[in-house]
Amino acid sequence: MTDISCQTGVELLMEYLEGMVPDEVRSTLESHVAGCPKCVAFIASYQATPRILRDATAAAMPPELQRSLLAFLNARRGDRPQEE
Ligand SMILES: [Zn+2]
Repeated sequence: MTDISCQTGVELLMEYLEGMVPDEVRSTLESHVAGCPKCVAFIASYQATPRILRDATAAAMPPELQRSLLAFLNARRGDRPQEE
């Protein structure tokens, strides 16, 4: 993968933030984020808001619940793309 748009980037960012993307995708994603305020804002909001939930995830969260959480975050991002 050599080209990342914000649309695919957001999906990748989810995996990136969970440490689930391969190194070559990671570097491509990071280079996109470096020049993309929207993706930077997304990462900031992701890291700030669901920290408690992410801690719970780290402890023990079923895969289906993780997917629900990511779907929630994705919907939230689309609903209020607001920066602080
Ligand atoms: Zn972007």
